[in-house]
Amino acid sequence: MKRVLITGAAGFLGSHLCDRFIREGYRVVAMDNLITGDLRNIEHLMPLEHFEFYHHDVTKFVHVPGDLDYILHFASPASPIDYLKIPIQTLKVGAMGTHNLLGLARVKNARFIIASTSEVYGDPLVHPQTEEYWGHVNPVGPRGCYDEAKRYQEAITMAYHTYHGLETRIVRIFNTYGPRMRLNDGRVLPAFIGQALRGEDLTIFGDGSQTRSFCYVDDLVEGIYRLLLSDYPYPVNIGNPSEITIRDFAEEIIRLTGTSQKVIYKPLPKDDPKQRQPDITKAREILGWEPQIDRAEGLRRTYEYFKGLSRERLYEESLHREFRQDNK
Ligand code: UDP
Repeated sequence: MKRVLITGAAGFLGSHLCDRFIREGYRVVAMDNLITGDLRNIEHLMPLEHFEFYHHDVTKFVHVPGDLDYILHFASPASPIDYLKIPIQTLKVGAMGTHNLLGLARVKNARFIIASTSEVYGDPLVHPQTEEYWGHVNPVGPRGCYDEAKRYQEAITMAYHTYHGLETRIVRIFNTYGPRMRLNDGRVLPAFIGQALRGEDLTIFGDGSQTRSFCYVDDLVEGIYRLLLSDYPYPVNIGNPSEITIRDFAEEIIRLTGTSQKVIYKPLPKDDPKQRQPDITKAREILGWEPQIDRAEGLRRTYEYFKGLSRERLYEESLHREFRQDNK
């Protein structure tokens, strides 16, 4: 039985990865410091014999007894509201956390995959974004702590590959959505659905003409799984190329939820990318992967999840909203 370490395991993507690896018959060692993660995302796995959880911060030395076949480094704040709030931790988990886990991968002779991001392309001047594009990033802007942490993470991972011959994989993740996103992380989908469920107006930042391309989480996990098992060490975009403006996205959420609220316009955050769409030619060719779940179906599943949350959880986010307003 193969054994895999997943960091950020109590987060949105990490928890879905835990589910997938358990389903595939792996032993899963889950690690999280719970700054942005939530144990409720993995509590259903806790009783399982092949699942263990370590409450640990990977920026400190990481010790895991026993063998490891794969390490998936998915620990990081990942939404602008989170990394604005904890920029130093964001830089540390990308830099020191990645370094510690690369060291662990060497000791265990484990294959290593990092969660990189479309943010390495910054506010892109090339559209759609191919893996060859080097990006347009402001290192000292509000997103710099995240973008540069992820760029450094790619660089050190590549260095361990070329210098130490470590088996490494790099997935560049584009906007992803699905059950277990945090209502209070400021991301557009939980923001809109949360607002609809609470009977509030939907807040569009800027004029809403900026675009994003949203991938359903199950498709993303499939792409990551295939990349990990492939022999390709260079970055691969995983995302859904179906692109939409934020204004049209708000309309889709209004139709989906049947809310009678309207949209209101707020200032656009600094350095908010104007457009984003993955070129997934590489994923298609190398992994035989492409998304299977369209936005209508993915949004329906996601809405079902959010509808099932308690009233308290729907209102848990007020603190964060105040924070976001302070930062405008
Ligand atoms: N956005 C918005 N209203 C919100 C939250 C976000 O209009 O309540 C916009 C945000 O400015 C950005 C897009 O939605 O242009 C996607 O934002 P998100 O934080 O989800 O992801 P990212 O900007 O990192 O792609």
